[in-house]
Amino acid sequence: MNIDEKLIEQIVRNVVNNVVTPKSAGSASPAQPAGGPLFDTIEEAIAAAKIAQKQWVDGGKDIRYGVVEQIRKVSLANAEKWAKAAVAETGMGRVEDKIIKNIVAAERSLGPEDLEIKSYSRCCNDNGSLTVDMAPYGVIAAITPMTNPAPMVINNTIIMISAGNSVVYLPHPSAIKVTLDSLVVVHDAIVAAGGPRNLITSTKTPNIDNAKIAMSHKDVSLICATGGPAIVDIAMRSGKKVLGAGPGNPPAVVDDTADIARAAREIIYGASFDNNILCNEEKILICMRAVADKLLGELAKGNCYVLNNEEAQRVTNLVVKNGEIDKKLMGKDCAVILKQAGINVRDDLRLAVFVANDEMHPLVQHEQLMPVLPLLVVDSFEEAVRMACRVEHNFKHTAMIHSNNIERITYFAQEINTTTVQVNGSSQRTGGDLHNGGTSWTIAGATGEGCTTPRSFTRQRRLSIYGSMNFVK
Ligand code: NAD
Repeated sequence: MNIDEKLIEQIVRNVVNNVVTPKSAGSASPAQPAGGPLFDTIEEAIAAAKIAQKQWVDGGKDIRYGVVEQIRKVSLANAEKWAKAAVAETGMGRVEDKIIKNIVAAERSLGPEDLEIKSYSRCCNDNGSLTVDMAPYGVIAAITPMTNPAPMVINNTIIMISAGNSVVYLPHPSAIKVTLDSLVVVHDAIVAAGGPRNLITSTKTPNIDNAKIAMSHKDVSLICATGGPAIVDIAMRSGKKVLGAGPGNPPAVVDDTADIARAAREIIYGASFDNNILCNEEKILICMRAVADKLLGELAKGNCYVLNNEEAQRVTNLVVKNGEIDKKLMGKDCAVILKQAGINVRDDLRLAVFVANDEMHPLVQHEQLMPVLPLLVVDSFEEAVRMACRVEHNFKHTAMIHSNNIERITYFAQEINTTTVQVNGSSQRTGGDLHNGGTSWTIAGATGEGCTTPRSFTRQRRLSIYGSMNFVK
């Protein structure tokens, strides 16, 4: 084959693969394997994602905007379908709330605009320049939870590929159908907008060993582990760069200066959203004694049932097994849980609250992931803060405070040290929009990156020129 034939073959391959023309000569990409984005083995999925990642960066940055727009479009079009599929498959959450989750992930995940290049003139002893740019890691292995299957694919794909990476997904086996369905649709949107095939990949069937293989694979540059403590712990011991987005146990403190009616409304909305399966939702209420009865009264006025002591014990006996939360009841509707405990409530009940007498109550200590909330009563604001810090377990995740005292709010935020502190609003008010920080579905409290955006998935690189290029005298 002479050189022209080779060139023609490459061009045809690029057209077939929907790959944009490489910007620089000499950077022709290796050929993609047949098939994809779902492969028989994790090794094949990684190999294809590696090729696609090179094609993606070779194609330049401009195309990323159009690709991300196409992902937003198809995700919005499928928001309802994926919400229904997720509830049907996982048995967790509420369709109406999952639709909102998919829409938020589609509309508010930051894209390539999040990356910024910084340039400094007159560095190097007043005679030179410095450019700091954000480079992709390469292939990311993304481990995803069953609690947010589709929004995780939408959000992780947008933010990770915006930064120039490709992604190999390792979905939760209990959410495999909806995760892979959304993955294929998002993949096809990337290709339709001119991106390479297999920029996001996975395997046809889930296998718990895939995570182990990915974590030690030479072509995987970064592990993004979103889930409970076990998987974050495993990932952090892999020896690779890890973004660990682990559990949360967010406390919501209510003090005696708060607008109690508003606090109750916000708590009901936040703590019942998608049946409390989001990591950042209110899991524990801590209220000052002076306003505790008022708060319980306001909660009862809303779509919330306040359990008496005996009912609370029945619900606790139902949902706690051997000191742990019964996974079978996680994400179930409040009415389903209460009825199983023999408490007759309306079917559309959103939340139940009970006064817990002990901080060591399992629903205080464990992330319950269900719309049943313990409320701890304390005598002082300082005690509320100390307790909130203890029950948050130093996950550095999320905390809420309802107060109108700015000194107390400041003190709370400094002490609790979480990634997000939400003031006078529900947990679900924390998500930024496209112009205000963006939404994050991978809150990396464990490893410190916090609410992730495209720049979280970049390596900082510097180009330093000594002796010239400080072009303004
Ligand atoms: P999970 O820990 O059961 O599973 C999470 C992922 O890890 C899944 O893909 C699962 O297959 C994998 N996994 C778990 N154990 C593994 C093992 N031993 N080997 C290989 N893979 C393993 O969590 P879940 O029930 O799917 O999700 C709920 C949890 O995730 C909650 O704790 C929630 O707080 C947390 N979460 C955190 C964030 C965040 O941004 N910090 C976001 C969503 C969910």
